[in-house]
Amino acid sequence: MIIVMSTQATREEMDQVLERMAQEGLKPHISQGEERTVIGVIGHIYPELVDVFSAYSGVEEVIRVSKPFKQASREFKPLDTIVDVDGVKIGPGEELAIMAGPCAIETEDQLLRTAELVAELGARFLRGGAYKPRTSPYGFRGLGVDGLKLHAKARERTGLKVITEVMTPADVPLVAEYADILQIGARNMQNFNLLDEVGLIDKPVMLKRGMSATIEEWLLAAEYILNGGNRNVILCERGIRTFERYTRNTMDLSAIPMVKRLSHLPVIADPSHGTGKWYLIEPMAKASVAVGADGLIIEVHPSPDHALSDGPQSLTFENFRKLMEQIRHVASAVGRAVAPALVPA
Ligand code: PEP
Ligand code: MN
Repeated sequence: MIIVMSTQATREEMDQVLERMAQEGLKPHISQGEERTVIGVIGHIYPELVDVFSAYSGVEEVIRVSKPFKQASREFKPLDTIVDVDGVKIGPGEELAIMAGPCAIETEDQLLRTAELVAELGARFLRGGAYKPRTSPYGFRGLGVDGLKLHAKARERTGLKVITEVMTPADVPLVAEYADILQIGARNMQNFNLLDEVGLIDKPVMLKRGMSATIEEWLLAAEYILNGGNRNVILCERGIRTFERYTRNTMDLSAIPMVKRLSHLPVIADPSHGTGKWYLIEPMAKASVAVGADGLIIEVHPSPDHALSDGPQSLTFENFRKLMEQIRHVASAVGRAVAPALVPA
């Protein structure tokens, strides 16, 4: 339910509404627009509450949120959420958030060289998994805490913020100690215990779409994190599984504007996992920016042929440079910008 205050509502009228909410055991989420204030109501809502709050002076309208995802919906919060990652903002109106780096952290040399290159080309975030979900148990499963330490080193050296995956609730405190954004992978999108756990921290979380998840299931997964109290949620479209086999996944471009219509959360596009082919990344990255993505997450490796995971979808340094040139054109065509080279402090 949301309570829309009238443009003339006074502070006292607002306080009376908030007081009644407290008595009913409800929590407010206040969106202060330029014109009016909208109070999102969190908690157990019974139908009579619509009439109860409509009777308060200063209240213009009380609307029940029709979507099953409440706090993630635009009805609940009409204004876009801008996620602030320690000073670097992600969301509409901000520079495109470019996250780039290897699929997995392999060595110090691999990570640091990649970090320096992507920082110079306009990325503000370094990606790289220390804990890798692999289809086969014999695949490279990541360096664990040693990988997290390398991320910290790369951040110190380049000024990039780091994003890395957390796979289990027990690892959340450790990963949160090192990462600027915690990634929930596609395979864990409905790991509800993990979602609950990252809902309790105050670091931003990027929630990837599950490989067979509908948009509604994806937004309901985001709802878990928001309901835990963590409002810094970023969504990531990474392709879904269909009958098509030429591409690793089918990148659902229409999901980007659809989700932006349904939800206030920022959306990042992942054409690397979305296609699985390095030569499809540039066209799909350009298309993603054109349809309104707030950023891109791209796999880049100094030597994709030798990568321990996802080599076929990783860009060489040269291809990443070409991609960024193209992205700048598309970004400016849709009124967005890419950050300039990051100069280490
Ligand atoms: C990744 O980002 O390397 C990854 C494993 O992605 P996804 O969870 O989307 O498959
Ligand atoms: Mn990968």
